[in-house]
Amino acid sequence: MILNLDKNASSADIHLLIDKLETMGFQVSLGKDGVGTSLALVRGVDNFTRAELFSHLPLVEKVTPFPDKFKLTSKDFRQEQTVIDLGNVKIGDGSLTVFAGPCAIESETQIHEIAEAVAKSGASVLRGGAFKPRTSPYAFQGLGEQGLKYMRNAADTHGLLAVGEVMTVEDVPLVADYMDILQIGARNMQNFALLKEAGTSTTPVLLKRGWAATYTELLMAAEYILSFGNANVILCERGIRTFETHTRNTLDLAAVPVLRELTHLPILVDPSHGTGLRHLIAPMSKAALAVGADAVMIETHTDPDASVSDSRQTISIETFGRLMEDLRRIGDAMGIKINISGKQEKAA
Ligand code: PEP
Ligand code: MN
Repeated sequence: MILNLDKNASSADIHLLIDKLETMGFQVSLGKDGVGTSLALVRGVDNFTRAELFSHLPLVEKVTPFPDKFKLTSKDFRQEQTVIDLGNVKIGDGSLTVFAGPCAIESETQIHEIAEAVAKSGASVLRGGAFKPRTSPYAFQGLGEQGLKYMRNAADTHGLLAVGEVMTVEDVPLVADYMDILQIGARNMQNFALLKEAGTSTTPVLLKRGWAATYTELLMAAEYILSFGNANVILCERGIRTFETHTRNTLDLAAVPVLRELTHLPILVDPSHGTGLRHLIAPMSKAALAVGADAVMIETHTDPDASVSDSRQTISIETFGRLMEDLRRIGDAMGIKINISGKQEKAA
């Protein structure tokens, strides 16, 4: 149920109303955008809950049942785009934000060198996993907390934000201590305990689409995070598994305009995992910008062949630099600003 409130309602009165609804047994989410203030009742509502129950309450101007199964992720609840505000970098505001870095944090030197190079080329967010979900239990599993420390230091030194994966419920507070964005990987898109825990965090979440997940399933996974209190979710298209074996996955770029239609959440495209092949990263990143992605995430390394994981899809610093120039040219033609790292912005 969506309750649209009087535009002039004070925040004290809104909170009194929320308290009242909670004592009536509903879970309430507050939505505010340029269009108005609304309350979404996401738990406690069933087929027998009638709009009349709410229409007489103070401040309530309109009561509408959610028309679809999507609630907090839907445009019925929030008409304006969600913007993830990370200081200088705002994801979802119509600009393009570039995430870059290695698949895994391998050493202090490696992450510092890569951070320096991608910041110089204009990336805003450093990526790198400290906890790696590997198909083989014998493959490199990540440096754990030590890796997070290296990453934080490298990001701060070079004026970058940082994103890192969480694989377990326990990882959430730990990774949130070091990272600006928590990543939930494709394998964990429907790890409901992890989604709930990420929902209780105040750190934004990058939620990757599972390789066999529909748009509905991706949005429902995002609903978990939003309904547990964290409204800052970025959806990620990272390729799905199809009959095609030439590429690692099939990058589904139609996901961008489709999700744009269905939700107010920002959308990131990951052409690295989406194709698995180095020479496809630049063309698919440019295509992602052209179809309206809010961000791209690109696995980049000072020595791609020596990457401990995902080397076949990792591009060099030089290729990344050329790609950034192309993205700027395409962005200029489309009227889209390419976000640059905090440090460069300060220096300018
Ligand atoms: C990653 O980004 O490092 C990763 C493991 O991606 P995915 O979950 O999309 O496979
Ligand atoms: Mn990877």
